Amino acid sequence: MLKESDPQPGTPNAWEAARRALGLIEGGPLNIGVLAVDRPVAQGRGEQVAVRFIDRHWQRRDFSFAALQRQTNRFANALANLDPAGDGRVFSLLARSPELHVAALASLKSGRVFCPLFTAFGPEPVRTRLALGAARILVTTPTLYTRKVAALRAALPELRHVIVVCAAGETAPPGTLDCASLLEQACENFTPAATSAQDIALLHFTSGTTGQPKGVLLAHDAVVAQHASARSALDLRDGDRYWCTADPGWVTGLAYGVIAPLVCGVLSLVDQEEFEPRRWYRLLAEERVTVWYTAPTAIRMLMKAGTELARATPLPQLRFMASVGEPLNPEAVAWGYEAFGQPFRDNWWQTETGAIMIGNSAGMAVRPGSMGRPLPGVEAAIVARDAAGLVRELPEPGSVGEIALRPGWPSMFRGYLGQDAKYRACFSDGWYLSGDLARRDAEGYFWFIGRTDDVIKSAGHLISPFEVESALMTHPAVAQAGVIGLPDPLINEVVKAFVELKPGHAPDEALRRELLGHARSRLGAAVAPREIAFIDNLPRTRSGKIMRRLLKARELGQPEGDLSTLEPAA
Ligand code: ATP
Ligand code: MG
Repeated sequence: MLKESDPQPGTPNAWEAARRALGLIEGGPLNIGVLAVDRPVAQGRGEQVAVRFIDRHWQRRDFSFAALQRQTNRFANALANLDPAGDGRVFSLLARSPELHVAALASLKSGRVFCPLFTAFGPEPVRTRLALGAARILVTTPTLYTRKVAALRAALPELRHVIVVCAAGETAPPGTLDCASLLEQACENFTPAATSAQDIALLHFTSGTTGQPKGVLLAHDAVVAQHASARSALDLRDGDRYWCTADPGWVTGLAYGVIAPLVCGVLSLVDQEEFEPRRWYRLLAEERVTVWYTAPTAIRMLMKAGTELARATPLPQLRFMASVGEPLNPEAVAWGYEAFGQPFRDNWWQTETGAIMIGNSAGMAVRPGSMGRPLPGVEAAIVARDAAGLVRELPEPGSVGEIALRPGWPSMFRGYLGQDAKYRACFSDGWYLSGDLARRDAEGYFWFIGRTDDVIKSAGHLISPFEVESALMTHPAVAQAGVIGLPDPLINEVVKAFVELKPGHAPDEALRRELLGHARSRLGAAVAPREIAFIDNLPRTRSGKIMRRLLKARELGQPEGDLSTLEPAA
């Protein structure tokens, strides 16, 4: 539900209203860390629990807003001591932990750019990202440091300080500083940097689904859109108990796992353990989660684990379930009703957009398979280049084209690190071009087709891998599917599907034929896959996206490209 102070759909100046909702004044200071920590304290939320961390043994650790303020102030002072120039970028290589929250928010408060790295990266992806981002300070653990960074130190002259978070019994390795002692020595009061809306705040590397990950720069202004969208697309309200399952190594985990819930003043839950269906249901129930933000892969894995298991745990408090990161198959939305009595509400955005742009907000009728409608303030269109090469809107409902956004929304990226030409190429004729194809229906709902790199062109048809995958998923034996186009001399490309089965189904010839028939009856012969291969685990990025480019490269015996974000097969 929107509050009066929040931007209303149709409000011409939705972003102005969004700024007012945060008490911001035009041209005045704006700092994400201040809005996330100091403002809630000043508003009287000091003693309220801001974040609850749950470790693998179900030990809970609570941090109030006041405690976060003290810790971030100490950390910011420690940073000031180490880096008096005040402009060094701070990177983290940390799992979900209080220290990651503190390092991120303290860096922002101190006016330094913060960049989270995913802990499962190997030494090479860590090195390239630290080097590309000219990291000056790294916050990690002794184990991760020893395994992934120590040997690279000489190759990273810009990296001046490494702060390590030691567990009980651990000591800081040579060349590193112990986080706890730094904090102990630091003062609890800190005057935040007077950053402005346009100052760069965050560096996020993209998922690497379509190629080499890009370093995306976001400004402090991003928080305006992150907060407004958390209210509209995630329905966050006072008193909520909110769980975002994304890792803060990715933009979702930081924007909606760390920043937005704090700015909204709601309790946010952080599970420090990996995905496991029983554990997730227990967490939802015991923590009385009201709003849950997760991803299609996780939902499909829960579906694989069965509806009965989901229904075995009553979740009367759960009010709102949202999903992002990949297209959400209609089957998964329907399963939401079956298992939880409500739909999963899909929303769409990118690292580059900095916040949710299109979503199925509360109160909106969900159309399974649709990503929803543009949020207040977001001008989104379906576009294509005309004969003269100009980008034009395709206003006719149902037209297929690229999702484009009118530049100027607060969380719009301000650059690709070290790739100015690539950044500029994203903008044309007054639009930001997303690289994703979709269609919009007469009521303004957007329907995802595929990435421009992934769509299949076969015998004059434009085939959406998502549509084929969704059709396969309606078969009871299919857990998930990845669909690619393979070159064909006659019809340009033929459709091939890779299918992961649910437990209890044998990958035999009979089932393969059945699936081919099933797909043909739903999609028609022109769109249905010609070939189906069974696969134990679809290649996925660590942020949970099917890597269709890798399926294709392997199939064609081509180079596999950048695999730094590939999730190792289970
Ligand atoms: P890279 O740009 O490095 O190839 P990536 O695009 O996967 O990686 P992200 O910025 O994490 O990196 O992901 C954004 C992309 O994820 C979108 O462009 C879109 O293709 C996909 N996506 C996100 N949400 C949705 C959704 N709800 N439906 C369909 N696709 C989505
Ligand atoms: Mg991308």
